This record gives sequence, structure tokens and C-alpha cells, in this order.
Amino acid sequence: MRKKIVAGNWKMNMNLQEGLNFARSVDQYFREKPAPKAEVILCTPFIHLQGVSEIIKNGKVELGAQNCAAEPSGAFTGEVSATMIKSTGAQYVIIGHSERRSYYHEDDRLLNKKTLLAINTGLKVIFCCGEVKEEREQGRHLIIIKRQLEEGLFTLPAESMKMIVIAYEPVWAIGTGLTATPEQAQEMHHYIRGLVKEKYGRECAEEMTILYGGSCKPSNAAELFSKPDVDGGLIGGASLKKEDFAAIAEAF
Ligand code: PEP
Repeated sequence: MRKKIVAGNWKMNMNLQEGLNFARSVDQYFREKPAPKAEVILCTPFIHLQGVSEIIKNGKVELGAQNCAAEPSGAFTGEVSATMIKSTGAQYVIIGHSERRSYYHEDDRLLNKKTLLAINTGLKVIFCCGEVKEEREQGRHLIIIKRQLEEGLFTLPAESMKMIVIAYEPVWAIGTGLTATPEQAQEMHHYIRGLVKEKYGRECAEEMTILYGGSCKPSNAAELFSKPDVDGGLIGGASLKKEDFAAIAEAF
């Protein structure tokens, strides 16, 4: 059975002390409980990585970053490399989040470069894709996702695909309170799995974890996760409240 994942994306929230305190309470919660059916990941700002890594050691929570540089090292002021992320103990990095695509103009080519670099550094990549509202209204959502995956991800050799988790995040649902219906999510996830199958074969497609993201919360998580091609969630706002995040992680 393929891996289920619930990953929290803290975005640019919480100072160092607040973040470490929050991570401690999440870590403690999951240590005291039987292991959830889904792997739980905290994707924190860079400054929290090292501290959170120490907190979660030998526990049930994993760690990821939210972005990485497109270059391995050197004169790139303000950037944080995949190697630096890996050296904190983090195992994952989110690449291609819609906020990076839109506010920082990260295009498919750049995201492809970041993905290759992260994988070659030994990080697993949560690769995000998603259409904006107009694209869905015009019925172009499938073609947009196909392009994002073909250009951003499908240049990877087959053996690297086990380091990939795909997150489908319709941009119109992120932080808006609007959620894709379970049927809309299933349709897209099934389509994405089909694209992976065409490119990498049936086994790779069957093993690919595909997350849904976009206003996922305790009240809708179970229904979304009940769909056969929805393998968990990438959670923004609700990952900042321990009870909500825990409820989502336990929604399987
Ligand atoms: C996200 O940032 O990846 C996300 C899904 O945000 P939210 O859950 O707040 O919509």
C-alpha cells in the first residue's frame, strides 16, 4: 500500500521560540499516541529547521523545508541550499508551492532545476502543482497540471521518482476557505496518477503518494482522504493549530 502523508506547511508564521514551542507540543502529542496511519511532516521556515530537528528526534514526526535554492552553493545572498537543509536533519522540501510560483515568479524550468538538485542532495521533494480559478473556469485545469508536471517533474529519471510526493493544490482553494470537492480532488488525482503511469509505468504510478492541499481542515479531511487516489494532505492554515492538525493526521 502506498504511503499516506499529512504535511503541515507553516509558511512564514511564528518566530523561533513560538515555532519550537509549537513543534514540541505537536511532537509530544504524536509520541503519546499510537502511530497515525499517515506519516506526519512539519514543513517549517528555514530558521526553525535545526531546532525542530532536535525536538522530533526518535519521535513520529518528520521535517521538511518550504523551498530551496536553485544553485548548490556560492554567491547567492539570502538563499538557502538543499545541502544546508539536509544538514539540519530535514528529509523533505516543498518545491513549486503556488505562493512561490506567483509571488516569486518561479517557473517550471526553475522548479525543475530545484527538484533535480534537491533529489541529488538526498532530499525528498513535495512537488506542488495547481491551477488558478480562471483556468478551472475555462476548463483548462487538466492541461495546466499536465504542463506543470511534464516541465517541472517528468524530466527525472525513473529511479528518482521514489523521492517524489506530488501535491495537487488548486490555487483557488489555498487559504481561501474554498475546498475542492472530494470528487474534484479525486478526478485530478486520478488524472495525475494516469500521467505518472504513462511516463513511468504502472508500478511507479501505484506507489506515488499524491496529496491534496487547499483549505483542508478537520471537517473535510476524512471525506477527501476517503477517495482512492487522495493519499493525504498538504495543510497550511490548519497546521498552525495542534488540535486541527492532529485531527487531520488522524482522519484516515
Ligand atoms: C498550503 O499552503 O499549501 C495550503 C494548502 O494552505 P491552506 O491549507 O491554508 O489552504
